[in-house]
Amino acid sequence: MPKSRRTRTHKEYAFHLPCEGKNRYDTEKEASDAADFHMLENMNIDLMVYQCAICGYWHMTSRAETNWRDEMPKQ
Ligand SMILES: [Zn+2]
Repeated sequence: MPKSRRTRTHKEYAFHLPCEGKNRYDTEKEASDAADFHMLENMNIDLMVYQCAICGYWHMTSRAETNWRDEMPKQ
């Protein structure tokens, strides 16, 4: 087998992350501060923050979108 060792150049601009449309925060604090702010503006929303496994940044999401969390076993 011939060894073809090609180093691929990273085309970062071509990356399409599933979380691309979301706001990103460097730290949990930044994210939760932003979430608090949004919740003050709109009492009807309940936001939570999480660290993204894909980009490594923090995102906020509304709890309503995360019904899957209810599937987790209760302690
Ligand atoms: Zn992400």
